[in-house]
Amino acid sequence: MTAPSDKRDITFPSLPSIDQGQLDEAWAEAARQSAEYAPGERRALKERIKQLLKEQDAVLVAHYYTSDDLQQLAEETGGHVADSLEMARFGNEHPASTLVVAGVCFMGETAKILNPEKRVLMPDKRATCSLDLECPAEPFARFCDAHPDYTSVVYANTSAAVKARADWVVTSGIALPIIKHLATQQEKVLWAPDRHLGSYVQGRTGVDMLIWPGSCVVHEQFKADGIKKLHEKYPQAQVLVHPESPADVIALADVVDSTTGLIKASLNPEVQQFIVATEPGIFYKMKQASPRKTFLEAPSGGLGGSCESCLRCPWMAMNGLRNLARVLETGDQEITINEDVRRKALLPIQRMLDFAKQQRITMKDKGNA
Ligand code: SF4
Repeated sequence: MTAPSDKRDITFPSLPSIDQGQLDEAWAEAARQSAEYAPGERRALKERIKQLLKEQDAVLVAHYYTSDDLQQLAEETGGHVADSLEMARFGNEHPASTLVVAGVCFMGETAKILNPEKRVLMPDKRATCSLDLECPAEPFARFCDAHPDYTSVVYANTSAAVKARADWVVTSGIALPIIKHLATQQEKVLWAPDRHLGSYVQGRTGVDMLIWPGSCVVHEQFKADGIKKLHEKYPQAQVLVHPESPADVIALADVVDSTTGLIKASLNPEVQQFIVATEPGIFYKMKQASPRKTFLEAPSGGLGGSCESCLRCPWMAMNGLRNLARVLETGDQEITINEDVRRKALLPIQRMLDFAKQQRITMKDKGNA
């Protein structure tokens, strides 16, 4: 990717491109995981996983974008299905000595950063994220060094090494309140890596922000024209949009929010139809809570990051029952992080968690909890 610059002619480092080979590799593993089961295989795998979780004092934490099977299994075994902030919080508070994180690598790393004494396993730790890939630690650190008067705020979808260099970590659910808070301190913000979420937050706060030009290969695919056409067919539908989507898609939204926020919005008893612009794994929770409602996938360009006919995240799709059972048997996908990096990365994450806690206390005091 060529080095882009912002309106002030600030040049960003050259970013690595996400090549089709990386995506093909992820899709190949995803296909192995979702290959048709032999009769009784799915049930046997689930029973085996349940037994192994018990034997190993392990708890399963799954992201909303993983398969229905994994979300269901997490719920049935006393684990949790959540967004990345909630996954980290749950793992931190749960007494199990092993955390099994079904999601992508930065989620496993965040769990390890918060729980150094616990063993953290993932079904396949090669499962990455385009945002993480597009924000390597060294260029990010150099860019921070070149702009020392900016407070660095990184999205959770980054490596431990990038977090270790940041002042704050945020998730999509808490990005806006934290940037608003920084605005009250007259801080200027160096934001990385998602350009769409960065622009959205910048537009809502007016804060002076340098925005790293990374993007999510899934959300980048949503197309405003397609959503408008679908909305003409379903005029009663509300449009729910994740803020990693392009600005013209966000402009069409009735609700712009994190995955958890979008699930909450889908509970609105006044609305029966929704056009949803985020990874379709989220439909498991939406349909579970509102089985009679209609949930429609927002149309996409159908190229690049996602397969031609769907908007699944290739790396989330690498998580399956087969590799989950295998990792519980072998333990070979354990997350490890250099202790110095872990300690440094903990500080901006803890800052976010403390801010979130303080916000909940404030909301409670105001009677809004
Ligand atoms: S959906 Fe996008 S942001 Fe989420 S893990 Fe996949 S590539 Fe990363």
